[in-house]
Amino acid sequence: MAPDPRIAVCPGSYDPITNGHIDIISRASGMFDEVIVAVVNASVRKSKSLFNAEERIGFIEHATGHLPNIRVVPFDKLVVDFAREQGAKAIVKGLRAISDFEYELEMNQLNRSLASDVESVYLMAGPQYSFLSSSGVKEIATFGGDVSGLVPEEVARRLQEALGR
Ligand code: ADP
Repeated sequence: MAPDPRIAVCPGSYDPITNGHIDIISRASGMFDEVIVAVVNASVRKSKSLFNAEERIGFIEHATGHLPNIRVVPFDKLVVDFAREQGAKAIVKGLRAISDFEYELEMNQLNRSLASDVESVYLMAGPQYSFLSSSGVKEIATFGGDVSGLVPEEVARRLQEALGR
């Protein structure tokens, strides 16, 4: 009998996806049989997203279309519950600066107490992406800065349309 496929979940808001996210998803894709990119679609979130879930999912699908084992799925529940539902044994997250570490340590301990059967795996951000965030990219685009090189071309264009002056 074939062993169960190793499935990982990469959760995030991806508002919008950046080249740093793509780096983590690509690396996870080489480590697991299937990677589910889980896109937060929750109205309970305090801050409203710039792009709706459908748009964010579309950007991710285009950016990861060359990878054979990626599925992009919206979710609106606890990540560990979503992971269990999908049969995933791992949650993969990217770690950038120290600030990510503190937050992720707290989340890890909370998730562990909720679901000790789902392990979290942390991939260090590539040096060129260590200070790249969706919020930073939106800020740059708001003030007319050049975000090509930080996000896929389609996302750069849509940011320009949505935020450019
Ligand atoms: P952000 O923090 O940019 O709003 P998300 O909430 O969408 O991003 O984050 C989804 C996941 O991607 C998190 O694990 C986050 O740490 C990771 N991530 C975000 N940006 C980068 C990056 N530049 N390099 C590596 N990992 C990243």
